[in-house]
Amino acid sequence: MAMATDLSYVIVGASIAGLSAAETLRTLTDAPILLVDGDPDAPCDRTALSKDVLIAPEVGDGVFLRTEAQLAEQRIAVRRQYAAGLDASRHELELCDGTVVRYSRLLIAAGASPFVPFAVAPDVELHLVRSLADARGLRSQLVDGTSVAIIGSGLIGCEVASATRSLGLETSIVSIYSGPFAKPLGVEVSDYFRAMQAQAGVRTHYSTGVTRISARAGVVQIELDNGAVIESDVVVAGTGVLPNVEWLAGSGVELDNGIICDDCLTTNLPDVYAAGDIARWPGGPFGELIRLEHWTNAADQGHAVARVMWGDCQSAPDLPVPYFMSSLHGKRVQSAGYPALSDECKVFRLADGAGLVALYRKKDRLVGCLTVDKPRLLVKFNALLSERASWHQALERATELLPAAVT
Ligand SMILES: Cc1cc2nc3c(=O)[nH]c(=O)nc-3n(C[C@H](O)[C@H](O)[C@H](O)COP(=O)(O)OP(=O)(O)OC[C@H]3O[C@@H](n4cnc5c(N)ncnc54)[C@H](O)[C@@H]3O)c2cc1C
Repeated sequence: MAMATDLSYVIVGASIAGLSAAETLRTLTDAPILLVDGDPDAPCDRTALSKDVLIAPEVGDGVFLRTEAQLAEQRIAVRRQYAAGLDASRHELELCDGTVVRYSRLLIAAGASPFVPFAVAPDVELHLVRSLADARGLRSQLVDGTSVAIIGSGLIGCEVASATRSLGLETSIVSIYSGPFAKPLGVEVSDYFRAMQAQAGVRTHYSTGVTRISARAGVVQIELDNGAVIESDVVVAGTGVLPNVEWLAGSGVELDNGIICDDCLTTNLPDVYAAGDIARWPGGPFGELIRLEHWTNAADQGHAVARVMWGDCQSAPDLPVPYFMSSLHGKRVQSAGYPALSDECKVFRLADGAGLVALYRKKDRLVGCLTVDKPRLLVKFNALLSERASWHQALERATELLPAAVT
């Protein structure tokens, strides 16, 4: 691999993808490396924001991935500014304060931001959970006796509901879907999580949308499209995210639900790369263009793209099978592969509520696995995913490993 010399590397976004890229680059080169990010708390462990930060205030500084001093020790510079524009023909990045930064190679790892698809009256404090400041703001409201309404039944909504129930707070969840994770994981798995929520005391309003949120005498009123109105003290939205690409309008970089990249995470512009939640690359099981919102994927892509940026991309970096972990109502939820892209799901329920394994098929292949409280089985099916095992092989293995499961 040819080594690039006399370069300066600029990275937009100092979260897990950007940080991983910067630290890997530093192991490869002495060239200047600059991280650009307007969030004063970056880089922090975003996965803790809807879990420990809400329930365990003692987390404190443990949420930060690196201190400024640790970055400085590695000679990784940081500019606390947002990027505002890109002129790739001049190799120039414009920052919000009007300054221009020149780069030899640019990585865009600017992630994604929450999207709110309903009207909110100006006097309502709608909580989002993306930054550390968001999570701390929400945490400060979660005092005894508070009721919490959560809009959205994806990861953020379900994790916040799990946290607020563990604090003993009255919790409602509202979603247009028929249950938690119904879209990415399928109805049967969704039903399992829905029963888990009911058991934990979450009040659920599924298959109904929010039309408007207003406030009356300090109480939030959530109007639903079925005519019902939910009242609560605190309201949180976990209604999905959109990639942070507005600042790239007019730059010429190809955008379509993220930044379009090839399998080397290279964009259509010279010397411009993307990684993490913002990157849409042909990483699906059959080479489909996908964009993941997973912590480990962002880290893996950060490490991989650093190697591509430093040297020539002679072959696409070998990225691991996507992996995802969560914790809901005391249960460990893990997923590998691409359940959301599947054609069929087969669920294996273990006796006495001892957990669940779901396998996902696309065409003739195993493409995904989800487990609840079965980490060893996740490892075994993950190995089959890495080997690109057939659906038939996966079912045979399931019969061996789960002889007593109910399907
Ligand atoms: C509350 C929460 C809980 C989560 N829990 C899990 C989990 O349990 N498991 C899991 O796998 N995943 C989880 N995720 C998803 C995971 O955190 C993301 O996939 C991961 O953070 C993506 O990393 P990233 O570096 O691509 O982008 P991000 O973490 O989104 O970071 C992007 C950075 O870019 C900066 N930025 C944005 N625009 C600009 C700009 N114009 N100029 C400069 N900087 C900019 C932002 O300030 C930010 O610091 C969770 C996410 C959230 C919000």
